[in-house]
Amino acid sequence: MTSSQIRVERTTSPVDEAQRAKILADPGFGRYFSDHMFVAEWTPEKDWHEATVKPYGPFSVDPASSVLHYAQEIFEGLKAYRHDDGSVWTFRPDVNAGRFQRSAARMALPRLPADLFIAAIEALVSIDQEWVPSGGEKSLYLRPFMFASEVFLGVRPSKHVTFAVIASPAGPYFPGGVKPVSIWLSEDFTRAAPGGTGAAKCGGNYAASLVAQAEAIDNGCDQVVFLDARNQRDIEELGGMNIFFVYADGSIATPQLNGSILEGVTRSSVLELATEFGHKTDERAVTLDEWRDGVAAGDIVEVFACGTAAVLTPVGTLKWRDGELSCGHAAGPVTLQIRERLLDVQYGRVGDPHGWMHRLS
Ligand SMILES: *Cc1c(COP(=O)(O)O)cnc(C)c1O
Repeated sequence: MTSSQIRVERTTSPVDEAQRAKILADPGFGRYFSDHMFVAEWTPEKDWHEATVKPYGPFSVDPASSVLHYAQEIFEGLKAYRHDDGSVWTFRPDVNAGRFQRSAARMALPRLPADLFIAAIEALVSIDQEWVPSGGEKSLYLRPFMFASEVFLGVRPSKHVTFAVIASPAGPYFPGGVKPVSIWLSEDFTRAAPGGTGAAKCGGNYAASLVAQAEAIDNGCDQVVFLDARNQRDIEELGGMNIFFVYADGSIATPQLNGSILEGVTRSSVLELATEFGHKTDERAVTLDEWRDGVAAGDIVEVFACGTAAVLTPVGTLKWRDGELSCGHAAGPVTLQIRERLLDVQYGRVGDPHGWMHRLS
């Protein structure tokens, strides 16, 4: 299966230009979708086939499709950025492709070749390039996903699987400037356990996090942070973002990949950029006590969360049932330094010494 085997069926009813301009002026997140989508099918006999860019629209899903019963599903998230010269680029798609393969392996889904993953994104963004907004930290969010589409209620890996990519214009995560978020400590729920699916980007992890996220909102917080399931002692991550701690001596720590933490592309990029800025970086266990005591003693001076959607987000408050802790009322200098550099690379405002950017159109 190569990119020349991708069939293209153009829509006959695209969103008209005025309507699209209105959407791109204030897209929000995940509310509007571009004119087309990419779809391919897999069976054990035919491998990946029927790769098609077609008009965006509903799937026809049989009620017995196994994904609806057993949640055999994975996804990815990355963005297309428009540079000042009008060209369109994405960030480290090879890393997302590799993670998609690891998620697939954990969920007993078929391996999607990295070049098909990237060809799918290229084909979709090329036909829908006018959906990539310009200026002001806007982007076209790309959502590749794969699900068990076999019509069968027996419990085993599906023998029919669908891969698709959809695209949704996204506004800046912080329209009013970077603001610290408040975080709720989940004490009743865990997100992932040893031997579980925490390191896979699968819908089930998100389903499991929603009740904790709702509890966070009920307690006046923006996001939830999870502890390790075994000891309820080590900080793991947020529902959909990794977490970092900045120390008074300039060093930076983030929880090490222990099998139940999702390996963020942003996380690994932050580790590289921080090292280049001269920070000592550590991937190690960070306990809840270290966070509380470190902030109280002035050893921990900044805390931030990171992921593709929000880039780097300062954490202002940690709240739990019996108390709360302020980690800073404004975004700290190290958080802002790394955030700016990452955005400068993504939007083509500085050089790209790592070769992280991949041109789409
Ligand atoms: C996607 C995701 C992240 C962030 O990964 P990025 O590649 O940086 O976007 C972090 N944690 C979880 C649980 C995720 O699903």
